[in-house]
Amino acid sequence: MNTDLALQVNDLTVRYGTVPAIEAVSFEVRRGAITTIVGSNGAGKSTIMKALAGLLKPVHGHVALYGDDVTGSEPDTLVRKGLVLVPEGRRLFKSMTVGENLDLGAYQRTDTAEIRRDLERVLELFPPLRTKFRTLSGRLSGGQQQMVAVARAMMARPRLLLLDEPTIGLAPSMVDVIADIIQTISREGVDVLLVEQNAEIALEISAQAYILEHGEIVLRGASGQLAGSPEVQRAYLGI
Ligand code: ATP
Repeated sequence: MNTDLALQVNDLTVRYGTVPAIEAVSFEVRRGAITTIVGSNGAGKSTIMKALAGLLKPVHGHVALYGDDVTGSEPDTLVRKGLVLVPEGRRLFKSMTVGENLDLGAYQRTDTAEIRRDLERVLELFPPLRTKFRTLSGRLSGGQQQMVAVARAMMARPRLLLLDEPTIGLAPSMVDVIADIIQTISREGVDVLLVEQNAEIALEISAQAYILEHGEIVLRGASGQLAGSPEVQRAYLGI
């Protein structure tokens, strides 16, 4: 067992009916760093995230979380073990306030004093959410809604945070804000797996990267190295 790894995924295959969505995908997330999977529309990024979070059952493959085999585990079990997903499209309860959404993030916890401390911490991390605490989430801007989604996940106290396209649809200035927050969360000791179409930002803030095409990993390496590869530059960076 490799204790440097937050997540080790081997030969993961997921199908929708008989249609393969991801095929024998293997990758790892090291502790103490941000790992990214970059892929374009329909490459299979969300399928990987849903399978890791227990929302889809793989037909093949194994997933180890901090050395513990969690293949096929239920979503609530995975949350208890520290794996928390921020889904694509935020999935907020839009008719509930920001504060109520954040409370829901801690639904599996009973350590009231610690929950209060974590709430204070996320409001420090996301100052606009303090101002909008009693506002209905549906009334916030896209960037602020993404903040709520990440903050809600932080309320579950993740060891490993899975972020599914957190920058999609955001204005460039807001992309930078979200990228800074992801880096802060990582520095504070949360391991991060980020899947993105935005290769530029993903490669900039991550240490290790994988390129996913048509459900298969086609390239892997240090993010800086991949950002410098002509293949990646041509296909993903518009250079
Ligand atoms: P996007 O960036 O558009 O979210 P993605 O990389 O997350 O794309 P997935 O959503 O994982 O890609 O989809 C991978 C493949 O599986 C695509 O071909 C998609 O059409 C297909 N797919 C996704 N969800 C379903 C579903 N519920 N039923 C059937 N096929 C699906």
